[in-house]
Amino acid sequence: MATTPAVADPELETDAVDEKQVDDSGPRIRCPLCRWSPGENDRWSCQCGHYWNTFDTGGICSGCLHQWTTTQCLACHRWAPHSDWYEQLYEAPHRGPYRDDDLR
Ligand SMILES: [Zn+2]
Ligand SMILES: [Zn+2]
Repeated sequence: MATTPAVADPELETDAVDEKQVDDSGPRIRCPLCRWSPGENDRWSCQCGHYWNTFDTGGICSGCLHQWTTTQCLACHRWAPHSDWYEQLYEAPHRGPYRDDDLR
């Protein structure tokens, strides 16, 4: 009923901080050697024959509870310390608009 012409453009006031468009929560997991990023459906095999996602358990086999301190990359098949797979939570400085389109 009472229109309030006092505010010129109220939409400018609502500067919501909704800029956080981070798609995945938690730290990024990548192979420290080839930058391959495992998905949720990837599985690692333990020496006990159990298959599980080693990043769901922090490197602990959910079958025999063996602690794997190194993790084999499913892409380059090299072994790297499990902790090295967790990228630090800093924004990559070179995540600019350019990609690997420079290959010619
Ligand atoms: Zn196991
Ligand atoms: Zn790799």
